[in-house]
Amino acid sequence: MNIIFCILIFIMGTVFGSFFTLAVYRIPLGLNITHERSFCPNCNHKLSFKDLIPIFSYISLKGRCRYCGEKVRIRYLVLEVFSGIVFLIAYLSFNINFPFFTVENIIDFIAFVCFYVTVVLISGIDKENVKIEKRVLLFGIITQALYMLYLYTFDMSNIYRYEMYLVIMLILFTIDTISLKIKGKSTYLIQILMFIDYILMYIPFDIYYMLIILSIFYVIVYTLYKSFKLNMKNNPNILFDNEKLNVGVRILYRCSFNYNRISK
Ligand SMILES: [Zn+2]
Repeated sequence: MNIIFCILIFIMGTVFGSFFTLAVYRIPLGLNITHERSFCPNCNHKLSFKDLIPIFSYISLKGRCRYCGEKVRIRYLVLEVFSGIVFLIAYLSFNINFPFFTVENIIDFIAFVCFYVTVVLISGIDKENVKIEKRVLLFGIITQALYMLYLYTFDMSNIYRYEMYLVIMLILFTIDTISLKIKGKSTYLIQILMFIDYILMYIPFDIYYMLIILSIFYVIVYTLYKSFKLNMKNNPNILFDNEKLNVGVRILYRCSFNYNRISK
């Protein structure tokens, strides 16, 4: 029975995975993310249900659009498989052993999903538009605050750590609002700090510290690979290229499961 449930959780993850690419494209444009059918960006043909089955559609169509034959980016498949695996690992690490799970397990899992969705969407939008989408961040903060409230009320957990990060968030938000008033646009650095503050609400600092080292390592390897490929002479500023550094922030969530419970 648990195997069946594992498969269902994996499928659920892949569905979230296929939703991400769509949401990353639509949220910054203010488009509807739930009610409008997806379409091929090349031929604008509306996609039918059989084109939207995670993983399966991509493989059966050999990574091409059914209507115009244009190549579909591999990132769709990667995100779907990756999200499926992430959901499965989260499910297993929260000890939700169906049918013996508790309400507590389920709430932990939902809180993790909210965290994962927030981090992936913010990172994806950041990669495409070099900005932290505040509406998504707000969703993350509200769901985190509800989880925090739950932990405090039902679990009698110590939420001091959370309060601290909420205060920092409030200060950053105030600075951002002031800079918005004075400069007419919000500061990217402040946005990044808000995002890091949000991640820290969920992941304890010692884990985050390790993730930062991992990220730096990743950025170095990625940059070396890119500079090897692109030729350093043509692009000497590659190390300071904004987009490449953002990759570092995006990697942070990847090893972050099962550390969400604050010490009791
Ligand atoms: Zn097409």
